[in-house]
Amino acid sequence: MSGVFKPATRQLILALSKGRIFEDTLPLLEAAGIRVTENPETSRKLILDTSDPDVRVIIVRASDVPTYVQYGAADFGVAGKDVLLEHGGEGLYQPIDLNIARCRMSVAVHAGFDYETAVRQGARLRVATKFVQTAREHFAAKGVHVDLIKLYGSMELAPLVGLSDAIVDVVSTGSTLRANNLVEVEKIMDISSRLVVNQAALKLKRERLQPILAAFERASRIEK
Ligand code: AMP
Repeated sequence: MSGVFKPATRQLILALSKGRIFEDTLPLLEAAGIRVTENPETSRKLILDTSDPDVRVIIVRASDVPTYVQYGAADFGVAGKDVLLEHGGEGLYQPIDLNIARCRMSVAVHAGFDYETAVRQGARLRVATKFVQTAREHFAAKGVHVDLIKLYGSMELAPLVGLSDAIVDVVSTGSTLRANNLVEVEKIMDISSRLVVNQAALKLKRERLQPILAAFERASRIEK
């Protein structure tokens, strides 16, 4: 304890997930003059200090970032469009597309499965995915009947062992699909990560948040 009184409105918590989002957010934080002083890949800590005594980073599952921000346990966070669509965006202000962690959401099938013919013939498809909302909307818009099977990871396995005819997953280089003898048959949408801000924090902590949001916006425009 430093003994110095710090009003709660100055303390900020940023929710990030490990991996690409964490790594791609570091340059944006640096543009705002904030350096994360611990590495989540080597530390087991879930609350990380930064060079700014008022700002801390919490490390959560990517799909939990919107929930922490929605309930105000984090003031702001970075989450992929894929995750935000599944969450629904309730209680979140989404001011900036950071243009980081870019990939696409696609439909993929086993190389031996004739997707086009199955769709044309009106077959009922079994689709395994973590992204059930997005998948449901995509196939409903196409008029394709699907049975959705919710998975939490390793979607690529499902068509290989007969759990599903197709998967809906995020694809970056496509090498994971290729390694598992799957082919991408349809792109649903482009994905990038966005900044999300708790709506109450935006009002109560505007003075501290605004310069960081402005720096993130400038840096994400310059970099891409
Ligand atoms: P790929 O580069 O296509 O082989 O991607 C490898 C795996 O990483 C895929 O199975 C995806 O689930 C995951 N992945 C790739 N890019 C992203 C991203 N931007 N956000 C979340 N997951 C991703």
